Amino acid sequence: MTEPQRSSLPVEIVRSRRRRKTVQATIVDGVIRVQAPASMSERELNEHVHYLVARLERRFRSETVDLESRALRLSKRFSLPKATSVEWADQRSQWGSCTTTNGEIRISNRLAAYPPWVLDYVIVHELAHLVEANHSPAFNALVAKYPLAERARGFLMAISFGETGIAQDVDGEAPQPEEETDSPLTLF
Ligand SMILES: [Zn+2]
Repeated sequence: MTEPQRSSLPVEIVRSRRRRKTVQATIVDGVIRVQAPASMSERELNEHVHYLVARLERRFRSETVDLESRALRLSKRFSLPKATSVEWADQRSQWGSCTTTNGEIRISNRLAAYPPWVLDYVIVHELAHLVEANHSPAFNALVAKYPLAERARGFLMAISFGETGIAQDVDGEAPQPEEETDSPLTLF
């Protein structure tokens, strides 16, 4: 398996007056949250952040992002075919892709920086393509076995919308409404 050529996880710094000396870093939904005392100098904080972020990223990469075993678990859990290989790929236009003829799956290395449940959705989407090589209702039913599918789909669409102005699903396709509504701007 190739090592992901990924960018760093986003870092969020929260300063607290109640915190006296210690700096703490945790990963919350794919974001590194650093909590620091309000009084700490920018320079001192930067040193802490540098060290803590490097340590957390090493751990995050090795513990949570083993694609092959992750995909295997998802195959078993949702009764989907096993992929022959699952690899990180430096692809930007699609979150995931697969070759249905040989069962190879590629996952965009950008996903390594997002919450693991979003990564799982993309893997499930690609595993389902090994059964249905389209986006038919049968395909959607397979993907819907993953409980967070809709939420993850919305997450990816929001990210791609922010970057490109198009709300894209896993394969880069933008879903169209089934039929035009009369007043699309009315919110209830
Ligand atoms: Zn697809």
